[in-house]
Amino acid sequence: MTPPGSIVTRFAPSPSGELHLGHAYAAIVAHDTARARPGGRFILRIDDIDPGRSRPEHVDAILADLAWLGLAWDGDPVFQSDRLDSYAAALDTLRSGGFAYPCFCTRADIAAEIAASDVAPHGPAASRYPGTCRAIPAAEAMARCAAEPHCWRLDTARAADSVGPLDWHEDGVGTIAADPLAAGDIVLARKDAPASYHLANVVDDAALGVTCVVRGSDLADATHVQRLLQALLGLPTPDYRHHALVVGSDGKRLAKRDHAAGLATLRQGGIDGARLATDLRAHRFPTGYSLANA
Ligand code: GLU
Repeated sequence: MTPPGSIVTRFAPSPSGELHLGHAYAAIVAHDTARARPGGRFILRIDDIDPGRSRPEHVDAILADLAWLGLAWDGDPVFQSDRLDSYAAALDTLRSGGFAYPCFCTRADIAAEIAASDVAPHGPAASRYPGTCRAIPAAEAMARCAAEPHCWRLDTARAADSVGPLDWHEDGVGTIAADPLAAGDIVLARKDAPASYHLANVVDDAALGVTCVVRGSDLADATHVQRLLQALLGLPTPDYRHHALVVGSDGKRLAKRDHAAGLATLRQGGIDGARLATDLRAHRFPTGYSLANA
């Protein structure tokens, strides 16, 4: 549990498109959770490790959106692209512990392997890496690394076995037992990006002293394997608060392509950001939008 007065939360958008009402709600909940406690800190982290999708103009828009909503963050924004050495060090730790292996599979290889197996096509195993490269002997894998593009994957079963049962505190819910095996052997570092979301996220939440991870319930499943990475890397475990998602009239969560709900679109259309923030805090959403299950 977080000791009174020392709460640190963060808002961690990826600058890959226009933020929408769901991001505004997430930022407000994270901001207000920190500001509710004396000395609470609210950090802005820009998740820009993916060079293929991150754009400087989206970073500028994120800063403008938050200012428009009246949300001030503490300190300078933290850019994941500045922190690649920390992710490389964490990957080294996992490799030297024997918890990571190189994977040479292409997307097509993985799809073919899954199609050839008897897993249910829409079940959870259909999106899980089948573990093909885990079986490659270490010497052969090292030799292939020098010549072939590869990513690094977590040997999740081995890792989970070595650390034993894990859990986390979910605000308003209680203790949740982690089930990291459900995620399978997640990617730790990619061919085209030096760290995966999961790895960079746990390294940064610890480095920034985040004590309560506030984010949408669409990321609740990610917590299971992130909790395992924390244990393997000897990092502290924050509390978590996965809030309900903003949905459109079809009941589906918003996507960055939903420009009608886009913050830059609303901002440039002359909508009053401070007023919108007040409304979102009171769960009053613009027509056509609501909070899921609210
Ligand atoms: N950057 C992630 C996203 O935009 C969020 C990371 C997190 O809150 O853990 O979906």
